[in-house]
Amino acid sequence: MQDSADIVIIGGGCIGVSVAYHLAKRQAGSILLLEKADFLGAESTGKCAGGIRAQFSTEINCRLSMYSIDCFEGWQDEIGTPFQYRQWGYAFLLTSDQLVKNFRNSHAMWTRLGMEVEWWQPDEVARRLPYVSMEGVQGATFHQRDGFGDPNDLTQGYATRAADLGVKIETGVEVTGIELQGGRRVTGVQTNRGAVKAGTVILCTGAWTRKLGAMCSVDVPIDPIRRQIIVTDKFDDIKDPFPMTVDLSTTLYFHRESGGILIGMSDHTESAGFDDSFNEEFGEKMLITAMERAPVLENASPKHKWAGLYEVTPDHHPIIDKLGHVQGAYVCAGFSGHGLMHAPAAGALTTELVLDGKASSIDITPLQLSRFSDPTRLHDEANVI
Ligand SMILES: Cc1cc2nc3c(=O)[nH]c(=O)nc-3n(C[C@H](O)[C@H](O)[C@H](O)COP(=O)(O)OP(=O)(O)OC[C@H]3O[C@@H](n4cnc5c(N)ncnc54)[C@H](O)[C@@H]3O)c2cc1C
Repeated sequence: MQDSADIVIIGGGCIGVSVAYHLAKRQAGSILLLEKADFLGAESTGKCAGGIRAQFSTEINCRLSMYSIDCFEGWQDEIGTPFQYRQWGYAFLLTSDQLVKNFRNSHAMWTRLGMEVEWWQPDEVARRLPYVSMEGVQGATFHQRDGFGDPNDLTQGYATRAADLGVKIETGVEVTGIELQGGRRVTGVQTNRGAVKAGTVILCTGAWTRKLGAMCSVDVPIDPIRRQIIVTDKFDDIKDPFPMTVDLSTTLYFHRESGGILIGMSDHTESAGFDDSFNEEFGEKMLITAMERAPVLENASPKHKWAGLYEVTPDHHPIIDKLGHVQGAYVCAGFSGHGLMHAPAAGALTTELVLDGKASSIDITPLQLSRFSDPTRLHDEANVI
């Protein structure tokens, strides 16, 4: 492995490879990406549900999504590798007065931002989503440009183009320390395969970022939280195309996957930790909840199941910023379960921050690390599933 680079990117998930590609496109110098697993996308990225949507409750999340959806739609022209993106939309079922009120407010913001989100009355929900139990449903929102994409396509596409542009990608390399001069300036990293000198280091380490921040004595409040998924056997009682269907009141969501149905749901009793074994008891609860909302799923058989880690910040927004007082260190992590859909924007914005000193495509002030020491700056994302 080379022993120096201008920029070291730590982490080879969707965020790290996007940052690598966008930096290389700007000819940022010699770039080395280090990933501790044996292959790219081995952690949260490879375990994610592939959902891509712009229907968020905060403006900054909507902007990150809209920027990224433009990139996904232009993927063939820009990246040119296969990317399966099914724009079958996202439908959010609204099952309480409070949700209707919140989504009415969001809908006004979405319209102002140029998003074309349909508001469905209950009869329209029943017509468009005939597989859904209408129990408690007061309406739904639907955005056609949302959908779901293949995490592997995205990761391999960015990695391939980054490599074409000269980025060196090393897997099986774990960063064990960050070298600082005078405690304030990055000079390189230590790894299980030797030291690498570098003046710039970017943490794209998802759920592990707190550990990397601690190497520089900076607290980065990102907690690993287990989330799980069940995919059924081939199942065509629900006719394609149908949208990613979300019941926010239970956090249940499901969409088409490999001929079957992918089912996800959040366990809000889960505490922070790196355990990513599948919790069978909660898996049962997921299936029961899914059958209550879509009774037709009683005829489906679970085939695959797995768990992975969300990388959660206190306000469910990512951190894209310099790493506190440490010169030459940056962080792009903590996407709180939305990193795949925000990967294109994350790469572009981090590149602007590193090369220009400031992001220009989107105002990322709300994503600064310093917000956590000022509660008045925290605006929680409400539409988290
Ligand atoms: C069940 C589940 C469902 C999800 N569904 C969606 C969804 O529908 N849509 C969506 O947008 N997002 C979804 N997500 C979230 C999404 O997967 C993450 O937000 C995204 O993958 C984060 O990407 P990342 O590159 O930051 O993290 P990761 O993919 O985890 O990559 C970080 C990498 O850093 C590496 N690393 C850590 N420490 C070191 C070290 N010391 N040295 C070297 N390498 C290191 C890790 O090995 C890892 O590969 C889901 C996540 C889960 C678990």
